[in-house]
Amino acid sequence: MQDVLATQAAYWLGVLGLLVGSFLNVVVYRLPKMMERQWDADCAQSAGQTPAPLAPLNLMVPRSACPHCAAGIAWYDNLPVLSYALLRGRCRHCRASIGLRYPLVELSSALLFAFCGWRWGLGATALAWCAWSAGLLSLALIDWDSTFLPDTIVLPLLWLGLIGADLQWTGLRLEQALWGAVAGYLSLWSVYWVFKLVTGKEGMGYGDFKLLACLGAWLGWQSLVPIILMSSVIGAVVGIALKLQHGLRAGDVMPFGPFLVGAGFACLLGQALGYPLWMP
Ligand SMILES: [Zn+2]
Repeated sequence: MQDVLATQAAYWLGVLGLLVGSFLNVVVYRLPKMMERQWDADCAQSAGQTPAPLAPLNLMVPRSACPHCAAGIAWYDNLPVLSYALLRGRCRHCRASIGLRYPLVELSSALLFAFCGWRWGLGATALAWCAWSAGLLSLALIDWDSTFLPDTIVLPLLWLGLIGADLQWTGLRLEQALWGAVAGYLSLWSVYWVFKLVTGKEGMGYGDFKLLACLGAWLGWQSLVPIILMSSVIGAVVGIALKLQHGLRAGDVMPFGPFLVGAGFACLLGQALGYPLWMP
């Protein structure tokens, strides 16, 4: 009986995850552009100029279109994963290839949601962890593309972690979540300042501190050391590999957010399966 319920919850949340993943692709593509527009407009305004009028751009408007031929994408060509498979990864109109990343994001989101359903059943706890997974997935991709970690995603997710601890969604006591957030922020903040005072360079950004605060709020202060260790080691390996392949030129910044997110997911997986990554 328990197994049937878990399978059903995994199925329904998996379907929800596909739809959310499709929306995350839009967020990841548009949010950095929206932020850049806002900065340009703010700069123009403070310089006393009137910002140039632009076509509206937000998460709803305009409709999705092919970046090559600008043809609008009909709903039946916009079904998560399925449309990509039916169109064999090409635009219906101009046959330009569609990035494999879109269906992969949809699949990852579906898998994360299905896992939450399987582990926690249908309910507030599973939905809270689904929201967390979706938020982190989009943050990792936006940071990878643009080295931004937008406050509009990180900060609500941080608050939700504290609220979720108090409502007993995350299985943490409120003080574990609170000190997780504080220690998460301060640990990277101090690394940043030591690095800056010693080398005069900036190794990471304030977005990384807030992201680790968010992970601490959801996973507790105990998970911070394993998260920092895992993300630094994997980040360093990937950084060196990219440098060897000349994927990363000298002076290029490699975002740290995707590695923090990866370590956060690993921690959740460990906890949810009963093998926490820290020693109790
Ligand atoms: Zn096209």
